[in-house]
Amino acid sequence: MKENRLERIEYNIERIKEEIADACARSGRSIDEVKIMAVTKTVPCEEVNFAISKGITLLGENRAQEMLSKYEMYLPEAEIHFIGALQSNKVKYVIDKVKMIQSVDSVKLAAEISKRAQICGIEMGALVEINVGAEESKSGIELAKAEEMICEIAEMKGIKVRGLMTIPPICENSAESRKFFENMRRLFVDIKGKKIDNVSMDVLSMGMSGDYVEAIEHGTNIVRLGRAIFGERKYV
Ligand SMILES: *Cc1c(COP(=O)(O)O)cnc(C)c1O
Repeated sequence: MKENRLERIEYNIERIKEEIADACARSGRSIDEVKIMAVTKTVPCEEVNFAISKGITLLGENRAQEMLSKYEMYLPEAEIHFIGALQSNKVKYVIDKVKMIQSVDSVKLAAEISKRAQICGIEMGALVEINVGAEESKSGIELAKAEEMICEIAEMKGIKVRGLMTIPPICENSAESRKFFENMRRLFVDIKGKKIDNVSMDVLSMGMSGDYVEAIEHGTNIVRLGRAIFGERKYV
């Protein structure tokens, strides 16, 4: 049973790599521009480590508590990004364990990251999370407010905006997801073009198990995959 699960993960990773290569070829992109992130929520460490051993070294963590209980068991080549809703009072627990925080959605959170990073003597990479579908239920800021917030964060020490992240609405078809990804790509290119001091727009993080192919066609640099690698989660 266990062997089967690991075989399945290996098969999934191979298939995903092929899909990514095809999508890159179709859209004239280099496969080096697209990184696969393994999203680890609810997944046992053993399976995460198996994915790492197959070359998927970038991990996405959603919950501070779950990350703290697992990160010490991960293989040392793992690079962890925080991708879930993060309360300011939890920043101190994750700051020295992650390479990037992809879910920065308020100036208050950015200020706390700035403070904690300076205490640790590091500079934390940050992605600003955009609520591209303007959904009530989702975290992230509106498209129209992104630039203003990025300019505010750019003034802070110990934190550097590296790009944008989004979770688009659940779409009926790929034409619908493409529209959201295209809006993200435009915003990304637009802000990059402004060359804001202390901001390096080099990471666009979008695309999950159901829509990563479309995201690649619209310029993503990190596809965040949970179910596509590990199978369905027991709970969400
Ligand atoms: C769970 C999650 C993912 C992965 O979702 P899948 O549909 O399992 O690929 C990606 N990004 C974020 C922020 C998530 O919470």
